[in-house]
Amino acid sequence: MSVQETTTKPADPTAIPRWTLERARALYGMPFNDLLFEAQTIHRAYFDPNRVQLSRLLNIKTGGCPEDCGYCSQSSHFATGLKASKLMEVEQVVAEARKAKESGATRYCMGAAWRSPKDRDMAAIVDMVQGVKALGMETCMTLGMLSPDQAETLAAAGLDYYNHNIDTSERFYPEVVTTRRFADRLETLDRVRQAGIKVCCGGILGLGETVDDRIDMLVTLANLPEPPESVPINMLIRIPGAKLAETGAVDPIEFVRVVALARLLMPQSHVRLTAGRTAMSDEMQALCFFAGANSIFIGDTLLTAANPGESQDAKLLRRLGLTADADA
Ligand code: SAM
Ligand code: SF4
Repeated sequence: MSVQETTTKPADPTAIPRWTLERARALYGMPFNDLLFEAQTIHRAYFDPNRVQLSRLLNIKTGGCPEDCGYCSQSSHFATGLKASKLMEVEQVVAEARKAKESGATRYCMGAAWRSPKDRDMAAIVDMVQGVKALGMETCMTLGMLSPDQAETLAAAGLDYYNHNIDTSERFYPEVVTTRRFADRLETLDRVRQAGIKVCCGGILGLGETVDDRIDMLVTLANLPEPPESVPINMLIRIPGAKLAETGAVDPIEFVRVVALARLLMPQSHVRLTAGRTAMSDEMQALCFFAGANSIFIGDTLLTAANPGESQDAKLLRRLGLTADADA
């Protein structure tokens, strides 16, 4: 059975899971050249292989988070030295978004170090969404878990995307986070979907997970009633003081295999090369683009961590003959 046949959706998507761990593992384990050939072939069926969507991510509220995500600089459970700050002013956020637009970003993502937003914060959040939309940019928020009402409020404000990563497999999740359940993440994803907001959901490699955990994370995403429109694949940025700062490095070839598998399992989603790119060579990033990655975050920082920065990214895209969506 060719990959194409396996990636067609069944008539009734609730009848059978589109993907099983076994089928996904068989693709993942193909010879590298075959895996990348299949991924690039499917990628070309849905996307221009030489275009990259550029997003920008701003931390609108930093640190002091009550959750204990083992990778995170912003968790109040770890002594990471990060200085907490309160929610930014709306005008400041919109001014930052304007700068991002001038540097080619088409989507503006606003993240807050919350377990969930408080209802008293929602008015300012709505103003931020509307202020950034008025610039003609796509908007994305990542604020933690949402109630149904909060999801509806964000949809009514015109929010385009909501990011809420599952980060790893359901099996491994308790090793990463203990202050919430994997099911809590899926519940918020469902509420976001019910409210009519597009979903951005992916995960992190390098947490100490197994290859099967990585594959199972992608199978979970691909088997959602509707796969996420955006799938961020992060490489762990080790945060001194955080619980998971000493895990083993991710083999670059294995990382590219995960990108290719994400492409095969979710052929119509944007696959975003997200955190950790400062530790990736141009050659590794080029392989990720060939494997089907077609989105990156630009800007010097990614929440509280380093990111390659615009001039370095512009040079990389030029070297590879890739066009940013805004320029296309
Ligand atoms: N607080 C919100 C939440 O947890 O949903 C949003 C904060 S931030 C966008 C959350 C995501 O960034 C995490 O789900 C994780 O995938 C990624 N991330 C955070 N810290 C990271 C790190 N040190 N290395 C790699 N990815 C990281
Ligand atoms: Fe809090 Fe999000 Fe960091 Fe988890 S990833 S500790 S929820 S800011």
